[in-house]
Amino acid sequence: MNTSMPFDTTQVFVGGHWRRGDSGQTLPLANPSDGSELTRIARGSAADIDAAVAAARTVLAGAWGALTAAERGRVLVKMSARVLEQADELARLEALDVGKPLKQARADAVALARYLEFYGGAADKVMGETIPFANGYLALTLREPHGVTAHIVPWNYPMQIIGRSVGAALAMGNACVLKPAEEACLTALAFARIAGECGLPAGALNVVPGLGEEAGAALSSHPGIHHISFTGSVAVGSLIQAAAAKNAVPVTLELGGKSPQVVFADADLDAALPFLVNAGIQNAGQTCSAASRILVERPVFDEVVRRMAERYRALKIGPALEDLDVGPVISARQREIVMGYLEVVKTGGLAVAAAAPMPPSLPRGGYYVPPTLVADVKPDHRIAQEEIFGPVQAVIPFDGEAEALAIANGTPFGLVAGVWTRDGSRALRMAKRLHAGQVFVNNYGAGGGVELPFGGVKHSGHGREKGFEALYGFSSLKTVAIKHD
Ligand code: NAD
Repeated sequence: MNTSMPFDTTQVFVGGHWRRGDSGQTLPLANPSDGSELTRIARGSAADIDAAVAAARTVLAGAWGALTAAERGRVLVKMSARVLEQADELARLEALDVGKPLKQARADAVALARYLEFYGGAADKVMGETIPFANGYLALTLREPHGVTAHIVPWNYPMQIIGRSVGAALAMGNACVLKPAEEACLTALAFARIAGECGLPAGALNVVPGLGEEAGAALSSHPGIHHISFTGSVAVGSLIQAAAAKNAVPVTLELGGKSPQVVFADADLDAALPFLVNAGIQNAGQTCSAASRILVERPVFDEVVRRMAERYRALKIGPALEDLDVGPVISARQREIVMGYLEVVKTGGLAVAAAAPMPPSLPRGGYYVPPTLVADVKPDHRIAQEEIFGPVQAVIPFDGEAEALAIANGTPFGLVAGVWTRDGSRALRMAKRLHAGQVFVNNYGAGGGVELPFGGVKHSGHGREKGFEALYGFSSLKTVAIKHD
């Protein structure tokens, strides 16, 4: 065991027991802030996934399946309290693992607690309906758990995504098998320990770390699962959907984005400015809903670029535990991808409005990239079309509402959009016409919005997580028709 870690990170959690993975092999986990090996994790295999699915099935037929909805809710609320008690430690683990500044990691721990609180409270408030049907019948609907749910999550917001996905699935009475990302999975393991301590029956949550093409593929194609919740890239999302199709199970895909914030000339720029920049550089731009495109109406274009550039030049970059504005990206590979896009900016002669200064004291092995603001980008340029997943924002000028809409809707994605205007009618028109799963007017992100259904259209995915809506996704509707006359 790595003694700098609070627990043995090399194990899988199956059926309530911690043990070595079936292969006995482990994988290195890097510390993005300096490139060192942080610890090792289990290389979960198809055999571990088999065991996890079997444990989930067993507890559904036993201790977990026997609880009432209110009892399930109480377990989640207890887990929420425990997460809050341990928020500092969870934040430290997440910061070390993902490279995100400590404050951002702590906000993720608080969000995880809030998801558990929300879904714990909602567990016994999901109701069916009675349906006016033919004379002599009583017809009604029941919301039932799918059974064994698979949760495949990425590395960028492990705690938040576990909260919204596993939290909702458990609230509905499913038993979960969680495959965290190989780049960052320490808080998934810590979460499993919390579940065990709070009385979640053994097998209701199983955690098998490992590689996507091994443990992930074994899980998504397993004939014993009844639903898949996947958050990650479009490429892997379509593999997951194909795997789900083979077993005819439903799937929720939360994929990437190229989300716009649209700033009209009548907007309150003082209110908008912090949101424009933060939504691009938070978590070093590795956020599915990052506002990587800023569309600005021409009369205020120069002013917005100038003010955003000032903020960029003042950004402080450094290791996660120094808790500055921007940390490293997740891996050497991700840094290469982002630097590749910055090369495209350079060779394409695009206008770099500002790049944050990279302090010479940055640890040499860390995966740092300079947050960069690119101005006057053509809407069809690669920088304005492809998800970069790094701290790079493209600012695009527009003239009038129709052009703003055409540009905003003109990518393969449709996850989130923001609109800044003082014109109420325009705000409503834009909200209706933007292709996105969420639209924010005169704000962006609503501070996380645990209560707000979230998901995409087009290549950003389908199905909804978060909010009450997620409980419908994690349940199956049964219709009962009773003839009484
Ligand atoms: P990824 O698709 O490479 O990996 C996500 C997860 O899938 C990981 O756990 C990985 O191990 C697993 N995986 C990889 N190959 C697999 C396979 N063949 N079968 C089964 N599982 C497999 O994505 P990533 O690079 O880790 O994350 C970045 C992407 O995720 C970005 O596109 C981002 O926009 C998206 N994302 C979306 C949301 C959202 O809610 N919409 C949230 C966060 C991230």
